[in-house]
Amino acid sequence: MRSLLKARRKWREARMFAAAMASPATPILAQIIPIRRCNLACTYCNEYDKNSLPVPTFEMLSRIDKLCEFRTGIITFSGGEPTLHPDLDQLIRRARDGGAIVTVITNGYLLTPARIKRLNAAGLDYLQISIDNVQPDDVSKKSLKVLDRKLQWLAQYADFDVTINSVLGNDIRQPEDAFQIATRARELGFTSTVGVLHDGLGQLKALNPAATSVYERIKNLGTGLFSFAHHDGFQSNIVHALPNQWHCPAGGRFLYICEDGLVHYCSQQRGHPAIPLADYTVEDILREGAKPKACAPFCTISCVHQTAMLDRFRTEPRETLNGIISRRQQRDPNWHPPASIRLLENMFLKDSRTRDLFGALALRLFRVKQ
Ligand code: SF4
Ligand code: SF4
Repeated sequence: MRSLLKARRKWREARMFAAAMASPATPILAQIIPIRRCNLACTYCNEYDKNSLPVPTFEMLSRIDKLCEFRTGIITFSGGEPTLHPDLDQLIRRARDGGAIVTVITNGYLLTPARIKRLNAAGLDYLQISIDNVQPDDVSKKSLKVLDRKLQWLAQYADFDVTINSVLGNDIRQPEDAFQIATRARELGFTSTVGVLHDGLGQLKALNPAATSVYERIKNLGTGLFSFAHHDGFQSNIVHALPNQWHCPAGGRFLYICEDGLVHYCSQQRGHPAIPLADYTVEDILREGAKPKACAPFCTISCVHQTAMLDRFRTEPRETLNGIISRRQQRDPNWHPPASIRLLENMFLKDSRTRDLFGALALRLFRVKQ
């Protein structure tokens, strides 16, 4: 059953990718806030409060409908703590029915076997939990010790894919914990990622040598082909406090919708452009997405980096794909591309006749309107 669901999810992801390639006016990822309140109070966090009410369900449904009208590929519910929204399951179902791949970012505290089964029934595709340390401390209570039972329930009951994100940053006292968290995630069959903590504007703080060495060890655990940390230079530059040269597509290919229903560039650049989603147009998507962002060189917001990488596939498919394949082969000279990459190679790297044929076939196969 799980493998069937996984295969269906991969198919929907391939459709999403094809749709994103077909039009620059299609948002690839939208992060939406159903509630700003959080049941925890991590000291580095500027994305929560202690008393706000859930966004009314009818408002949320209309925002989701608007994102689906744009044919947004992935809708991520974040917060605050999204599982505090009483109708989260209904919101997930609406986004799924609208054609999106649906993700929830949670601190995991409210997960129980029954809650996980409800998320299955709602059609959730991905759940991401960020774990900051092994033992809770006064910076963060998102600890392996507290959450391990929840992780075991997820391994047992979840039909959706689970990603465990560990973090490195100078505010995290025990960088070694990130390695233990990544190892435990992999033991349980989850994907593991590692993020670098940003300051209040989404900008880089250089990692100290102990944290950098843990990052390298986690990197060597290896993950899937498109794992950002491993196959793109962005994350590596971030860890070494070097600037990245990239175009941030926030406001266009990436949207952040706050609890008041305004579109912002990202969680750390709220206030720009701050246009109500209800009034947001395709022209806004194209204009805001194209604007240069002064914060880009030292930005650590990895989901926007990944969105930019997918966007780059549309404009520079050959360079992007070649880069991914050659970085993977540098790490492992015996590596051979899987079928999905061979298909992309045929679409983008072969001679122009093969490319046109595969491109047209893929769009027809995925029923993507150009
Ligand atoms: S659990 Fe997440 S939203 Fe809540 S305070 Fe911690 S980092 Fe912020
Ligand atoms: S570069 Fe983009 S994602 Fe990063 S902080 Fe600036 S607006 Fe946000």
